[in-house]
Amino acid sequence: MSIQRISQAPQKPSIQPTNAAVVDLVGAGPGDPELLTLKALRSIEQADLVLYDRLVSQEILALIPAGTKSIYVGKAKANHCIPQQQLNLFMVDKAKQGLRICRLKGGDPFVFGRGSEELQVLHQHNVPARVIPGITAASGCTSYAGIPLTHRGLATGCSFITGHKQDGKLDIDWAQLAQLDHTLVFYMGLSSLPEISQQLQHFGKNGHTPAALIENGCHSQQRVVSGQLHQLPTLASEHQLQSPTLIVIGEVVSLREQLDWLSNLAHQQDQIELENSAALSA
Ligand code: SAH
Repeated sequence: MSIQRISQAPQKPSIQPTNAAVVDLVGAGPGDPELLTLKALRSIEQADLVLYDRLVSQEILALIPAGTKSIYVGKAKANHCIPQQQLNLFMVDKAKQGLRICRLKGGDPFVFGRGSEELQVLHQHNVPARVIPGITAASGCTSYAGIPLTHRGLATGCSFITGHKQDGKLDIDWAQLAQLDHTLVFYMGLSSLPEISQQLQHFGKNGHTPAALIENGCHSQQRVVSGQLHQLPTLASEHQLQSPTLIVIGEVVSLREQLDWLSNLAHQQDQIELENSAALSA
């Protein structure tokens, strides 16, 4: 008896730019416009309408062509400019009118960005859509702060956690988190910082674990404050850190002393300028 296998080549979706998509859910990255993907830039340039969030930097907004309409649909904390449902329906409506929409979001649309919820609604209404990933804050901000998310011997992985409270409380399995040999990265955690620090220590994480707070990462105004887990709430208030701030907890933070390449570059630049001016005046 012979067994016949009918093999069918798996269907390969095109990753080329397509005119079929009407809405692009685009990740704008953490701030530096040079971190945009080419696909994101093309989407911005080709859109009829750009809908952007609060975390999209001014430098990136400056890339929107002069004649393109853009609307701020941002979400300042506790101050949702347009309710999410209304925004979803607005997007569907504009797409059905035939406008190409670039829905521009900070970081990556699928990381604490509600991109998945928006895509669900677009699919429900049969609106062709694409997702264009961006560099998420955890990746961009730590890189620009000279902190690797993983490092052999220091962290076997990393976890991205939301510090945003639902109904006034954090829904987090602290016992599990405190035991992980991971770099812990909290998004939207600034106002929950005392709880994050206390709970992790309560469930066994060493209070002396290196930790950092990165404000406005990948922007020219980036500030990085580092210390230890138990010091985080005090550091945040002493330095009057504001949103957006990312919280990074783990042994990898200790590498910043060696890997802070941004400060290193600035220092080297200063040295070259000093040497040049000394050579000129000699
Ligand atoms: N989708 C975004 C995250 C949105 S949640 C992404 O993938 O990055 C918003 C939170 O992200 C902020 O409260 C802050 O914790 C973090 N964040 C985003 N951009 C940041 C930046 N440039 N610097 C520091 N934190 C940032």
